[in-house]
Amino acid sequence: MPLSMNTYLLQTPIDRLKGLWPKRAEMLKKELGIHTYQDLLNLFPNRYLDRTQYYKISELQPTNAEVQIVGKITHIKTVEQKRGKRLVAIFTDGTHQMELVWFRGQKWIRESLKLNVPYVIFGKTKYFNGSFSMPHPEMELLEKHEKSMRSAMQPMYPSTEKLANSGMTNRVLNLLVQQLFLETKNAFAETLPKPLLEELKLVSKKEALFNVHFPKSQAHLARAQYRLKFEELFYIQLQLIRKNLVHKSKIKGYTFDKIGTYFNSFFSEHLPFDLTNAQKRVIKEIRNDLGSNAQMNRLLQGDVGSGKTIVAFMSMLIALDNGFQACLMAPTEILSVQHYNGLLELSKKLNTRIELLTGSTKTSKRREIHEKLENGELDILIGTHALLEDKVKFKNLGLAIVDEQHRFGVEQRSKLWHKNEYPPHVLVMTATPIPRTLAMSVYGDLDISIIDELPPGRKDIKTVHRFDANRLKVFRFIRDEISKGRQVYIVYPLIQESETMDYKDLMDGYESISREFPMPDYQISIVHGQMKSTDKEYEMNRFVKGETQIMVATTVIEVGVNVPNASVMIIESAERFGLSQLHQLRGRVGRGAEQSYCILMTGHKLSADAKTRLQTMVRTSDGFEIAEVDLKLRGPGDLMGTQQSGVLNLRIADIVKDSDILKIARSYAMKVLKADPNLASEENIPVKNTYAQLVKYRNIWNYIS
Ligand code: ADP
Ligand code: MG
Repeated sequence: MPLSMNTYLLQTPIDRLKGLWPKRAEMLKKELGIHTYQDLLNLFPNRYLDRTQYYKISELQPTNAEVQIVGKITHIKTVEQKRGKRLVAIFTDGTHQMELVWFRGQKWIRESLKLNVPYVIFGKTKYFNGSFSMPHPEMELLEKHEKSMRSAMQPMYPSTEKLANSGMTNRVLNLLVQQLFLETKNAFAETLPKPLLEELKLVSKKEALFNVHFPKSQAHLARAQYRLKFEELFYIQLQLIRKNLVHKSKIKGYTFDKIGTYFNSFFSEHLPFDLTNAQKRVIKEIRNDLGSNAQMNRLLQGDVGSGKTIVAFMSMLIALDNGFQACLMAPTEILSVQHYNGLLELSKKLNTRIELLTGSTKTSKRREIHEKLENGELDILIGTHALLEDKVKFKNLGLAIVDEQHRFGVEQRSKLWHKNEYPPHVLVMTATPIPRTLAMSVYGDLDISIIDELPPGRKDIKTVHRFDANRLKVFRFIRDEISKGRQVYIVYPLIQESETMDYKDLMDGYESISREFPMPDYQISIVHGQMKSTDKEYEMNRFVKGETQIMVATTVIEVGVNVPNASVMIIESAERFGLSQLHQLRGRVGRGAEQSYCILMTGHKLSADAKTRLQTMVRTSDGFEIAEVDLKLRGPGDLMGTQQSGVLNLRIADIVKDSDILKIARSYAMKVLKADPNLASEENIPVKNTYAQLVKYRNIWNYIS
């Protein structure tokens, strides 16, 4: 089927719309990005005024609500006041009278108002000195009102200040949309397959579009919105899933079909503990990917302490068994060092050649690593962003693992791809659980593995919220724990590593802690972002080795640091941290056999959101549950950072509120593509057409890079 006439009609430049003045057309383009008929059609109202109700003036309450009244104007006058004039019309509905008031556009309004004919007026009322008035009412002759296509549920379109000031009121937008429906005769092609419409009892595209702009009732509106939200999410999912499938069929990867000595001897002889079922499952998923001839592109999610490192290591061993190199990239120096030490430990009986490359690697060492890497004398390289430098050339990189992905842009992820002839398999690990719906939207084109089980024997971390006034008690508690041989973290906010005020807070805190816990009985480490990395490492190591009992730090310790003997995490100014950060920090403790504690310190003044965050932390330690709350508090854009927010730029759906629809849409998109990957069947013609059109005109696909 060729694209319908309708498709061409919808691409008509908006300037052609009858009744749209050229100046206003320009405003529409500039302010709302509306260039075509289709763009205007897809300008969905963001709320509706319920105009099913009519009020009598005698019934009005001084609540300042929006009301609709039928009545007549009996006379009009201009009233002089201190600053300029106002136009006043006396309006009566037989029960009472009120004033309609205008401060702007008086001449034009005065000329257009008719006396003693019934009008429908709508607007917010003001109550003053025992009588009601309505400034700048929306007005329509009753006769016209009854004939108009406008329904009782009045749509309110998104607007901007500039638009409103240039006379593009909601009313005008409304009329333009009416005009659009008249010109196109509401002949909109269906965009979803018939069987799907039937199965999900969705209303047709035509009906949905009409009712979203001119709803006959709440029920009609709800059905229309559901259908349009479904459609929007369906096509995004279709796109993402298709991208994944195309990727798999087009982007060849090295096939790691051997499971050899490295993996087998490690698995049978050197495993330091039994793997959890979740770890086993995930390793199997990764093995399957690596064994296929498609390039792996997998996201591994697992809460802090869930044991992702060993999964990463065993995946690397598969690469090594097949004669390839592997790398692991971490966001901070401290974490890279820790990974390096951890992997050295795991691999000590395996004869693997592992090196560490960070910003502070000495030039001579650096040169040596570069050389060995290129000759293939090195199996595994661990490091920071330093891995991405141009001089770093692998002989044959087969697997790239990125830890704590949210710290790296997608761009950097793809940079790793270009290190050798064919792209290596990519495994991205994150300890920030991403709510399922968000993962579907943002990483819908990746495969996702989840470790949803902690290693056995972990004790729940006791979490409490304490006010600053109770600091002495908290100090006493710290002293008790230290006397039992435990170690303590005290963390200060440092959102921007350069914020001098935060730095001062940290130093003040450090001083008061030093006074409270004096040498030689107590030793204190301090780590913050303004230190040289060698100093950082030195301080960190003292704590790791147990030479210091207290670690005063900023969030640099947030990611991945592992000190099992540390059992107390004190978070200062906890109200200033986001939920996921709090959760990450808490994850630093509870890694050993002892009961661990997390104490959230705050002042008394707390915002509602801050209270919710603290309560959530006290209530649960389930990372996915915490992530859901975070998503609700912050919204998807904030949660993911600006980079990916384009994906979340939806017209009508909301991935938080419409998560149920999203899940259904994804499963149907999957179903459609599984049954008919090329969208070639008769019933999928609408899908094929719509998809082609969406890609061509880039309507909701602006984010496709
Ligand atoms: P994360 O997922 O936060 O990176 P790690 O890989 O650092 O977690 O593991 C956290 C701790 O749990 C480490 O000390 C590790 O040795 C240990 N661990 C991992 N898996 C298991 C397991 N199956 N059984 C017992 N301990 C485990
Ligand atoms: Mg880790």
